[in-house]
Amino acid sequence: AERERIAKRIARSGLCSRRDAERLIAEGRVTVNGTVLDTPALTVAPGDTITVNGTPLPETEPTRLWLYHKPAGLVTTTRDPQGRATIFERLPKDLPRVMTIGRLDINTEGLLLLTNDGGLARVLELPATGWLRRYRVRAHGTVTQDRLDALKDGITIEEVRYGPIEATLDRTQGGNVWLTMGLREGKYREVKTILEALGLKVNRLIRVSFGPFMLRDLAVGAVEEVKPRVLRDQL
Ligand code: URA
Repeated sequence: AERERIAKRIARSGLCSRRDAERLIAEGRVTVNGTVLDTPALTVAPGDTITVNGTPLPETEPTRLWLYHKPAGLVTTTRDPQGRATIFERLPKDLPRVMTIGRLDINTEGLLLLTNDGGLARVLELPATGWLRRYRVRAHGTVTQDRLDALKDGITIEEVRYGPIEATLDRTQGGNVWLTMGLREGKYREVKTILEALGLKVNRLIRVSFGPFMLRDLAVGAVEEVKPRVLRDQL
């Protein structure tokens, strides 16, 4: 396991920022293995005992990542002001405390990544990370592949810029079309908004992949941990 700077280790525990940690060290309020620190230049190993203001720092877990097949009908927040059911009420009870990487709308199904690492969640939500999110979409209305191809250049809707967007017309079914769409940003309601602009109304939305991770045949409501080796290769 890796050594890291003491201030970083304290910040990672969630106690305070790295800058605040450096101030606490300068004030003599941090100990490592029983010795009061007087410099933030120290590095610590995972087994070291650290106290801040006399209280042991909680152990930080290694980063873990899970794939979750979100069912429709659940919100992706910890608490819903309208009292609707949240994914957190339905996750397996043996899962540690996790947060989601981005969100899916209440009626959206499919792949949602969960992690115990808040820093990782923030990084992967940044537009700059640019991981492709792929969706299978059923929408009411008609559209041609030519119109979908125009989305490759992106589209501006009510002053919000979306794109570039990959969109493929897979088939028609009754009054609906099935599309596959790929986007790299993760903006609020992006698939629905983009398709509304083309006169289509989304009535089923399933996320099938997020970056290198794929939903595959994961059962609805099921959670599967990404193996540490795979995680190391992908992050
Ligand atoms: N686009 C949407 O409109 N909704 C989602 O939940 C995800 C992408």
